[in-house]
Amino acid sequence: MLWTLISLFFCWLIFRDFQSRRVAQKGYDYPDPAPAYKPYLIILVVLALSFAWPPFHHWRIERFLSAKATELAELHPAKVHCNTIFDTAFDREQLSIGHANPETGEIVIQYPWCETLMDYLDHPDSANAEEIYSLNMLTHESMHVRGEYNEAITECQAVQRNYRAAKLLGVADGTARKNALDYYYNSYQGKANLGWFSARYFSDQCAPDKAMDEHLIDSTWLTLSTDPRQLLSAQ
Ligand SMILES: [Zn+2]
Repeated sequence: MLWTLISLFFCWLIFRDFQSRRVAQKGYDYPDPAPAYKPYLIILVVLALSFAWPPFHHWRIERFLSAKATELAELHPAKVHCNTIFDTAFDREQLSIGHANPETGEIVIQYPWCETLMDYLDHPDSANAEEIYSLNMLTHESMHVRGEYNEAITECQAVQRNYRAAKLLGVADGTARKNALDYYYNSYQGKANLGWFSARYFSDQCAPDKAMDEHLIDSTWLTLSTDPRQLLSAQ
């Protein structure tokens, strides 16, 4: 918002300069006859565009993620809001990296996790654990918008759809599968031992052929079975 206001201020200076040559200003009988000073105007245009870029970039990311979250939520309308550092400071749920309202479809992602997700999309084949975590964050919040409230079920639905999510976001097939399995084997399995806050997202029934397996046709687990040799070779 601040950047937009600063950009509009520079736009107003440009407008005022042009206007002064067309219309007589207060206290003058005729418009300013001097030609426009081009370097001044060029600097104003550069400043206006520079300050307009961050909010425009922010808006484009939110629009992109909203469209993908809506697809993941099976066409329940999702609206992603990427919190700024100030939004996060005043967010009552700032301890979570994101939260969603299944009734309104609103998804709020804390600072700087939208950027982390965009970093993941820049180089998915060399993504670090945090970047892969941000992929699951979007899938997880989309599952809330789809209608699930229970955290363990939501998380397991996300685990099984992270492969689909990565592909929807434009990641190549093999990398999408690897990233989705990396999350399942590393971050997800680790939640069981990270204290009560993380443990409520974990269930030992979230595994191939266990109670929470939805047997999706494009499941993250598609190539896996309960054969431990196959499970090991996928890690
Ligand atoms: Zn949740």
